[in-house]
Amino acid sequence: MNLVTQLQIPAVLLTAALAVTLPAKLRAQTPPAAHPGEAEHAEHHWSYSGATGPEHWAEEDPQFAACGEGKRQSPIDIEHPTVKALPPLEFDYRAEPLAVTDTGHSFQVNAPAGSGGITVGGERYELVQFHFHRPSEETIGGHHYAMVAHLVHKNAKGELAVVAVLIRQGEANAFLKPVFDDFPARGKTEASVAGASINVGEFLPKDRGYYTFDGSLTTPPCTEHVRWFVLKHWVTASPEQIQQFATRYPHDARPTQALNGREVDATRD
Ligand SMILES: [Zn+2]
Repeated sequence: MNLVTQLQIPAVLLTAALAVTLPAKLRAQTPPAAHPGEAEHAEHHWSYSGATGPEHWAEEDPQFAACGEGKRQSPIDIEHPTVKALPPLEFDYRAEPLAVTDTGHSFQVNAPAGSGGITVGGERYELVQFHFHRPSEETIGGHHYAMVAHLVHKNAKGELAVVAVLIRQGEANAFLKPVFDDFPARGKTEASVAGASINVGEFLPKDRGYYTFDGSLTTPPCTEHVRWFVLKHWVTASPEQIQQFATRYPHDARPTQALNGREVDATRD
């Protein structure tokens, strides 16, 4: 999950905040913004390895405290879920313009208002964006899938619900083709194809059974109280498609986090 990149924090402010809050070790590694064109890279000071990797996210900014102290963090390993009668997850996505953004941590498609969403147990959430991780962040019985797509939704109160669609290596995925063929070129932040549209409904597996639990954003600031729905049934992508993503982002997955007593529920099917 990646919401912070949508906030467009001005580089000047961020640099100033970092100068005050960062330990010297990290501050020394934060390059100054040499010109306005670097503004969009200012938020990329966290990463998936080394000194700015997941074990250090909480140290990088006081706003990232939940990444270290949080007790309801995502992703998790799903093992021994409790099977229950749960409300169906109903999808009503509509066509949206195809414009792919390179966030610096993944490729993401932002959904304008009117792109549809999900309804579960009477609660309505609108689609905000979707993006990818390689390998899958969530694991099933300790097993990673080749990739995962996170479909991020928000309700009227601003609460988030994420639907995770696991991706296995296999047949080529027709929905992913225009998305993966139109990743922004290196150094560019957005690519859009005039007139092209996609419908996320075409990406979903036929069966809509799910695992559900209370979790967080899986990227800084790791905000909690995010409602997660991991679909039990996966979709496929070809080895070539997975390689298309991996060429830019070979590894963008946070390690699984402790359950700390949380229950994971599952639908019967
Ligand atoms: Zn994600």
